[in-house]
Amino acid sequence: MGKEVIDKSEMLSVRKKDDFLKWFREVIKFADMVDTRYGAKGFVVRKPWTMITTNIMYRMFDEEFCKYDHYPAMFPSVIPESNLSKEEEHVKGFSAEVFWITESGSNNTKFEERLALKPTGETAIYPMYAKWIRSYQDLPIKYYQSGTVFRCETKETRPFLREREFMWIEAHCAFATEKEAWEQTKVDQKITKAMLWDKIGLPFMIYKRPQWDKFAGAVDTFGCDVLLVNGRVNQVGSTHMLGTNFAKVFDIKYTDVDEKKKYVYQTCYGPGFSRIIASIICVHGDDKGLVYPFDLAPLQIVIVPIIFKGKEEIVMKSCENLCDKLKSKGFRVKIDSTDWSAGAKFYEWELKGVPLRIEIGPRDIENKQVVIVRRDTGKKSFVAEADILKTISSVEPEILVNLKKKAVDNVKGLIVDCSKFDDLKKSIVGGKIVRCGFCSIEMDGEKCADKIKDACGAEVRGTNEEKSEKVGKGVKCIVCGKDAKHVVYVARDY
Ligand SMILES: [Zn+2]
Repeated sequence: MGKEVIDKSEMLSVRKKDDFLKWFREVIKFADMVDTRYGAKGFVVRKPWTMITTNIMYRMFDEEFCKYDHYPAMFPSVIPESNLSKEEEHVKGFSAEVFWITESGSNNTKFEERLALKPTGETAIYPMYAKWIRSYQDLPIKYYQSGTVFRCETKETRPFLREREFMWIEAHCAFATEKEAWEQTKVDQKITKAMLWDKIGLPFMIYKRPQWDKFAGAVDTFGCDVLLVNGRVNQVGSTHMLGTNFAKVFDIKYTDVDEKKKYVYQTCYGPGFSRIIASIICVHGDDKGLVYPFDLAPLQIVIVPIIFKGKEEIVMKSCENLCDKLKSKGFRVKIDSTDWSAGAKFYEWELKGVPLRIEIGPRDIENKQVVIVRRDTGKKSFVAEADILKTISSVEPEILVNLKKKAVDNVKGLIVDCSKFDDLKKSIVGGKIVRCGFCSIEMDGEKCADKIKDACGAEVRGTNEEKSEKVGKGVKCIVCGKDAKHVVYVARDY
């Protein structure tokens, strides 16, 4: 009959709220999402339990991009040094994190020009845009590509949250007018909402980032932070208004209707898959492990045969019939036919976040029923054989609704208003996000932001981009006491 308990070393040893990082490490290891023993610091192997969900997200983003007339392309992973270093601010922003390829294996021949492993795509893509864009009739151009990028992080690396090679999609648009470019930054925010909230159920906020914290080379950056339960935020993507900054450097010009040559206006947008996966783990996961939304689950339904001596064959036959039926309807489903005890199987599939478990034993077969258990609520119901499909299709959307509700409940009360520096410090240390008056998110506010960082490790994330928040009369900067120009949010991230 197999072992009655599973190996204790593979059971979660902490609760999520007691030691979040340990819980996170154990979940990704025991659920078999990654293997960190690859042997190169900051690089991890992503296993099927990560990649199935990642591939589903790629397809979902493809669909969203397609709605707004974006087209896929694939640029090389290496960037010649001369291109990478063309935009001064951009290279300053990334140079410390670049991996360089300097030679080939044949007699260790040095390359005439170093090649950078792509830290982000602008300088790979824009020299080509300069060749392709000739006339106003070539515009707009909206290409995107998916893949991995490389950044030599010097801080402590962590799977999904901070890695040296991570997965994302990047979209790069060029327009004839500034107005269209600004509109695109709004479209990017719509895509973010359609994905993160509508499909994945992750609460987030979009901030206009302070000038000192914008993307290197951009006019403005809008960052999307997922709110985590313990007051920390996780930036899962950002969209950038580049203006004509890169167009001037890479000479991307078009001939307008009036026959004058003009620079294009550009935007870029990059949702990061590794960080979205991290957010799914953090926001939806619980003390039993992962909880996947139904559409994103690597395995949506697991069938567990409840075996009794002498009844093995009839139970397995019944499980196989149901499995075939569900597969033919397009569900990701499998039978757990291992020798582990039923209890050990329940534990494992709960840890791995499978949304639905179906149990079939001899008595269920006699009664022409099955048992269906939901991972998100733990609710167990007896369902007549004839009603299985109907039940699954009605439960499926309920799971996401429930996960959204839980996620929103978890962040309730997380944002607190402060007007004194000491209160800000206390609130941040106590796991809150602080909303407060701030002198300026232009460059002159950086000193005040540094003081906050030194005091409690939190950052000024920016102003609320979705709803404009006016500064009340007489509100002062929480650091320097000068009149506040902005209402900002302050939080720690991972
Ligand atoms: Zn100030």
